[in-house]
Amino acid sequence: MPTLTLQQIASRIGGYDPNALPVEQAQAFIRALVQPVLAVEQLPIRSALGRVLAGNLVSRLNVPAADNSAMDGYALRGSGLAGNADTVMRNIGTGFAGAAFAGSVGAAECVRIMTGTVMPAGLDTVVPQEFVRVDGDRVTVPAGSVRTGDNRRLKGEDLACGEVALAAGRVLRPADIGMLASLGHAEVAVRRRVRVAFFSTGNELRSVGEPLDAGSVYDSNRYTLWAMLERLGAEPIDMGVVRDDPAQLEAAFLQAAASADAIITSGGVSVGEADHTKQVMARLGDVLFWRIAMRPGRPMAIGRMSGGSGQHSGQAGGAILFGLPGNPVAVMVTFYAFVREALLAMGGAAHEPLPMLRAASSSAIRKKPGRTEYQRGFVSRAANGEWQVALGRSQGSGVLRSMSEANGLIVLHHAQGDVAAGETVDVLPFDGLI
Ligand code: AMP
Ligand code: MG
Repeated sequence: MPTLTLQQIASRIGGYDPNALPVEQAQAFIRALVQPVLAVEQLPIRSALGRVLAGNLVSRLNVPAADNSAMDGYALRGSGLAGNADTVMRNIGTGFAGAAFAGSVGAAECVRIMTGTVMPAGLDTVVPQEFVRVDGDRVTVPAGSVRTGDNRRLKGEDLACGEVALAAGRVLRPADIGMLASLGHAEVAVRRRVRVAFFSTGNELRSVGEPLDAGSVYDSNRYTLWAMLERLGAEPIDMGVVRDDPAQLEAAFLQAAASADAIITSGGVSVGEADHTKQVMARLGDVLFWRIAMRPGRPMAIGRMSGGSGQHSGQAGGAILFGLPGNPVAVMVTFYAFVREALLAMGGAAHEPLPMLRAASSSAIRKKPGRTEYQRGFVSRAANGEWQVALGRSQGSGVLRSMSEANGLIVLHHAQGDVAAGETVDVLPFDGLI
């Protein structure tokens, strides 16, 4: 794939306006910008949870390996059943899981069999034990209680040898780790984790452990970013707080570009910012400064930055740069709206749209058409069993507590207007089952 300049990508987006960019256009732009990191590593399966499968995993086995019983009962030959009358058969032995019955079985004979036991040769049907009458070795199978082939699992029915068991790009979940084990794999080939260097900018920021002097605030963005990157399966590289000084910013960007596939900064990208972050970004990389039609998270820089020699990035043309706004909620919202999908694509993960809930808003919400809003909400079950969502108390983009108290983001789409109480809205839940 040839590497496009940012201007080339922009020119392919109809009606591109960097000063009022709809969220969908920004997402499409970023999709065109990123390329997957191709490096692969071999891991023990328990270390591969949450990692991206590098290639199709083809089954080397039939699952199950042989025809076997799905019930505890009696294995028999379906052709020996009498049809409209009861059938009497002689029980000549027992098969257990792990110790199948190995003898040959005659026409009017049957074998007691346990669930999961390999079917004795020539037998194709299992009658469950609760259906039959047993008297010594005489087993009476009532008419109509079973048909040929019932209660038998066929060899390869779950997965046939040579079939794709797990497709490339799969983010491995608990069931997949079990599948790998069931197919006899101790190790699996996964994509290398996407390396993401990140730092905060702003002279007012202090790191935890430092004293908080007047006018300063603790840097929280590096911690939420670290946590979101961990959850996403990326490799976070924490570069600390960088002061608003051109030489220090330049050194930080160059080091980040030389060691990472992506760089995330927070702060310093708003219009009218007095600091040097934007200038240094523009000087060192191919960078665009956007005002996105969204709330929170309007200012954002996007680009590509080359780390010069010793470049480590898997991205052609240099590390991808996401210059996020400084406000703590805006950082999280822009990460979820733009960075998350980009990093998953860079990590080789197959695209899976996020599930959205449809929930009744418990209050009216004011919303201007022409921008996407992400409001903090709390989703719960209403008395009628339907989902409902309450708007968080504070919606300020600097109020991190509003994210902590919420369990989902209410997504008010670009064209949407005011929401009436009781109206259904889209909600992105923060957490899922696995
Ligand atoms: P900026 O986009 O740099 O103008 O920052 C917007 C607001 O977010 C300011 O109030 C900053 O103090 C605050 N802010 C910026 N970076 C951080 C950070 N890393 N942690 C906490 N607050 C921040
Ligand atoms: Mg700042």
